[in-house]
Amino acid sequence: DASVWECYAPLLVGARCVMARPGGHQDGRYLAKLIGEEEITALKVVPSLLRMLLDEPTISDATSIRRVFCGGEALTMDLQQKFHARLTAALWNLYGPTETTIDVTFFECKSDTSSDAVPIGRPIGNTEVYILDSELKPISIGVAGELYVGGASLARGYLNRPDLTAEKFIRNPFSNDPDARLYRTGDWVRYRSDGNIMYLGRIDNQVKIRGFRIEPGEIEAVLNQYPGLSQTLITAREEVPGDKGLVAYIVPNTASAPTIPELRSFLKQKLPNYMVPSAYVLLDSLPLTVNGKVDRRALPDPGRSEQQEH
Ligand code: AMP
Repeated sequence: DASVWECYAPLLVGARCVMARPGGHQDGRYLAKLIGEEEITALKVVPSLLRMLLDEPTISDATSIRRVFCGGEALTMDLQQKFHARLTAALWNLYGPTETTIDVTFFECKSDTSSDAVPIGRPIGNTEVYILDSELKPISIGVAGELYVGGASLARGYLNRPDLTAEKFIRNPFSNDPDARLYRTGDWVRYRSDGNIMYLGRIDNQVKIRGFRIEPGEIEAVLNQYPGLSQTLITAREEVPGDKGLVAYIVPNTASAPTIPELRSFLKQKLPNYMVPSAYVLLDSLPLTVNGKVDRRALPDPGRSEQQEH
């Protein structure tokens, strides 16, 4: 969805759209060089790519850059500060799910801010946002609730999934139009006292890695097809700040447990690369909380576990 914005926005204002070569989005040095050579004025990047670019020593020479639009995952305060230390351009934090193509809220980051997190801001034109509790009642400023989006940009629903469409695109209780819908984003947010919205995290376990939206359950479902496994759990960990990776925790149920290279090549055949975990940990059992739920916080660090491989 973002490519529509990225390709048409420059063309609509009579500018030129420069596309990086395939795979170039993972190569900071190449991108920094391209920005300099093509005298790029506006950039659209996910935060992990922005971090990679800011680590390139030559990026400070890219004086042509006037605006950077960052979105797709949370923009952290340290990244914002790094940005203002290296570039004089304006930085915008854009928020929006695919179902509300494309962006829903925006915030212009200021270098002098004293807050500890970067807001996602306020709604763009033709868009309404509501922060609601579980009974669909608006909540007060400062209290966390789920973000709901209404307005012109909403998708009509999921193709051939009437059940999921009904669950996620609900009737808009604040509209007199019986066809008006709100999309429930699954994102936890709250209003800051100045009216800007702060992003707090996902309500479910969905994770974002290098801008890719990943449902760990989808990877677990594929891994569970492999014989000899009794339990699997996929999670995202950030061992080094800004470098998030997927970790697979696996409990085998046979003495002759599958090897990690076998599991990895099995997943590679079935899933796109960005969904294949980078680290694997074999466990006798998954740690549980007192009420019997998997205790995600007690999962061993993949770097320190014995039965692991990166
Ligand atoms: P996608 O549909 O792939 O664009 O993913 C949408 C999800 O990405 C949202 O529901 C948020 O969880 C997350 N997201 C997108 N933009 C931002 C942002 N600026 N800050 C924090 N999370 C974001």
